[in-house]
Amino acid sequence: MKKEHFPRISLVIIAIITTVLTSCSNSDNNNNNNTSNNSNNNITENTEVASVEVKTEPEQVEFGINLNEYHVFKSEVKRGETFGEILQSKNVPYSKILQIAKQSKEIFNIRKIRRGKNYTLLCNSDSIPTAEVMIYQPNNIDYIVFDLRDSINVYSAQKEVKVKERVVSGQITSSMSNALDKQNVDYRVSNKLSEIYAWTIDFFRLQKGDYFKIIYDEKYINDTTYVGIGNIKAVEFSNGGQSHYAFLYEGGIYPEYYDETGKNLRKAFLKAPLKFGTFRISSKYSGRRFHPVQKRWKAHLGTDYAAPTGTPIIATANGTVSKSAYTKSNGNYVKLRHNSTYSTQYLHMTKRAVKVGQKIKQGQVIGYVGMTGLATGPHVCYRFWKNGKQVDGMKQKLPEAKSIEKSSKNDFIKVMTPYKKRLDKLKVKPEDKKEEKDLLAIK
Ligand SMILES: [Zn+2]
Repeated sequence: MKKEHFPRISLVIIAIITTVLTSCSNSDNNNNNNTSNNSNNNITENTEVASVEVKTEPEQVEFGINLNEYHVFKSEVKRGETFGEILQSKNVPYSKILQIAKQSKEIFNIRKIRRGKNYTLLCNSDSIPTAEVMIYQPNNIDYIVFDLRDSINVYSAQKEVKVKERVVSGQITSSMSNALDKQNVDYRVSNKLSEIYAWTIDFFRLQKGDYFKIIYDEKYINDTTYVGIGNIKAVEFSNGGQSHYAFLYEGGIYPEYYDETGKNLRKAFLKAPLKFGTFRISSKYSGRRFHPVQKRWKAHLGTDYAAPTGTPIIATANGTVSKSAYTKSNGNYVKLRHNSTYSTQYLHMTKRAVKVGQKIKQGQVIGYVGMTGLATGPHVCYRFWKNGKQVDGMKQKLPEAKSIEKSSKNDFIKVMTPYKKRLDKLKVKPEDKKEEKDLLAIK
């Protein structure tokens, strides 16, 4: 894979005419040890050395294969096109295709090739060119190789992903996402920031003069193809003249964001078991209500969040799965134990996604909205337990998430300080007024 980044332009072949066997084994060692001194010695030991310069085409290695050795045919899967049709178009016999289908089952189901995805066919140079290797790319990073040379060999691999750090800063005139968009920053950075600052900053109420400074990673394959964001490592967000820092620290049980003093930026509990914007509250907690299915008055000890079947249900806090089961009234449900005081419960799932004993992180998907058990429509009934009793989750004064552990404090400071220094040094350019006017003129 590494070779991919260093194409050979020309190759100097040193033909050693009187080659001593020992010098061969020496030079092999030299390749491993990178000690150039010895390799010079080897050459001088040989009396007749002829040097021939041979120009070759740049080696094009992709998918770990030297493409120069083949006729390369790149395309994308067309509407309705099957795996078999693609190979047949390059003269692979039907019997072989059946064999591939059978043999690749464990690695990749060939029925899962999708329209619009890239594939590469490497053909030999026979009079009727036949595909010897097919590479299918379900996304930018993963690929599956169907190697038909000799016996059929199917394997999956990944392109090497390189991480590049990027630093951006700017003032906000309209919205956070607009400000980032102007600098060609992936929209996912803006989404991530609203998660990190969900409890500290209201991004719908930003003020004039608010600014941001962000240090984050971008991922690339082949050095040039952008494939997404990596970690957001450090942020300073100034809101109403007050700076809010966020530093990623990965030394704890989970990676978390802390401010410069080591205080966790999040609360221990999310406000809802579904992502913002995916639900409406259809019934609140009450000591007494008319049950729509049982047709009698009884207490409703939870909050109902209505959402389409299949909407992911997320854990409102870190914890351990204490129950993942089915009962007649709860349907599929999951209960999480957060600590000795708090547990939460999620009812009526169409499908559970976790097992008893599993450790769960806040925001992790634990199941999907459904209407199993006593339910008239798809929703999740969210129940909040405090000291073994069900209470109204919406009325609880929720605890802060844990700050940096004392034992990790020094390590955190070591990680955080250089980032903070860099953020503090960074100058935020005042918003370019001319550019702003131009933009307005275009509108
Ligand atoms: Zn309910």
